Amino acid sequence: MEITAFTASQLLELLSNKKISPKELLSAYLKHIENINRKTNIFIHIDPEELIKTSKNIDTEKTLLKGLPIAIKDNICVKNQLTTCGSHILKGFKPPYNATVIDKLQQQGAIIMGKVNMDEFAFGSSCESSYYGPTRNPWNTECAPGGSSGGSAAAVAAGIAPWSLGSDTGGSIRQPASLCGVAGLKPTYGRISRYGLIAFASSLDQIGPLTRDVRDSALLMNIISGYDSKDSTSANMPVPNYLNCLNQDIKGIKIAIPREYFISGTDEDVKAGVLKAIDVLKKLGAQLEEISLPHTEYAVAAYYIIAPSEASSNLARFDGVQYGLRETARTSDAENPLIEMYSKTRANGFGIEAKRRIILGTYALSSGYYDAYYLKALKVRTKIAEDFKTAFKKFDCILTPTSPTGAFKLGEKLNDPLAMYLSDIFTISANLAGIPALSVPCGFTKENLPVGLQLMARPFEEETLLKIAYAYEQSTEWHKKMPEL
Ligand code: GLN
Repeated sequence: MEITAFTASQLLELLSNKKISPKELLSAYLKHIENINRKTNIFIHIDPEELIKTSKNIDTEKTLLKGLPIAIKDNICVKNQLTTCGSHILKGFKPPYNATVIDKLQQQGAIIMGKVNMDEFAFGSSCESSYYGPTRNPWNTECAPGGSSGGSAAAVAAGIAPWSLGSDTGGSIRQPASLCGVAGLKPTYGRISRYGLIAFASSLDQIGPLTRDVRDSALLMNIISGYDSKDSTSANMPVPNYLNCLNQDIKGIKIAIPREYFISGTDEDVKAGVLKAIDVLKKLGAQLEEISLPHTEYAVAAYYIIAPSEASSNLARFDGVQYGLRETARTSDAENPLIEMYSKTRANGFGIEAKRRIILGTYALSSGYYDAYYLKALKVRTKIAEDFKTAFKKFDCILTPTSPTGAFKLGEKLNDPLAMYLSDIFTISANLAGIPALSVPCGFTKENLPVGLQLMARPFEEETLLKIAYAYEQSTEWHKKMPEL
């Protein structure tokens, strides 16, 4: 087996026992990237020479990660390294500071490999709205890897990074994890600092791990979780050792299956994969029961008011003055050169989906429409959160498919925003409710494309998810499969 097919935990063991040095490991990845990136367009910013230098200066004695490399989504700030959110408007932007998650990783001796592709500003489900061109799914390069953390999921699936960080506002970790056949965890809102994550929708965004298996998710959660005074929405709660919950018995655990998540339009192969997973969990002693989450059908509509509203406000800062791209006014005697500079910068800097979201959000927030759209959507959000609260009085976990289909063809949904929005139908509610949710591979479609199983739990009960997912993984082989590229 190639070393690049190992899990992060396995590689850590090799580094700990000095069977391999950080430089040797990094070089193996760089070689693999050179082969694979041409076919997949996963890494968009990477500096191999700098990386080799860094790998020689890792303290392998005192740090936890001992030089283990990690790929980072392009919306997480890394000091003095290109951070462009997959957008032209952030051309050349190098943040003067690290996101808190990057500080934590570097303190533990991780090597930040570079930036992986994403939908522009995380708007999308296919990685196709990136200014840098689409990423291709390692299982079939004609297909999309999902999005918006498509690069983070594809990097792990293709074995060009042992693990990665993504962000999830409406499904952007879980949906690409599902479409690329890897594990992806969206933690509880507030579990991980958002400081240095370029904001899309601040009340929904969370950073989280994409990994080859559940043990690696637990390990990465141990490093990146916790309170941060630089993020006022981060939760001041103790962080458990997530590795301790693996290997626990799941006998008697109560799992709900909401009927609203098995709607028509869900691929038969997806249904079959999830039903088989239910059987596995039953055999492990879990108690499964059907329930209803009655407000599910309004989730997509509410999300596509709330998320663009917040985005339109967050993206107002990109005007050519402080960050990235600046277009100049056409003539020095333009009537209002400042306004012309703003407008040309934004016209040329943002792609079509970003413009669509800015317009949608600005409209929903404008006076006269605010109550009818934004306020109404917030009320729906409360109803959805209440559905979950009620369910979690009786159940420890909720089980659903992650995405209604396997990976779709590149271009297939590009001209149909509504079809694209619907691919998040099963993931959006967890963000609206702020609860943790995880996706693990649970099978393949007839086209040999991965299928994902989603588990959701009460706020701050990531341990429940990891425990169930780990038990499931131990009884199946899906997470061991890798695409041939
Ligand atoms: N696909 C969803 C959207 O386009 C979710 C994106 C995300 O989670 N960042 O908004």
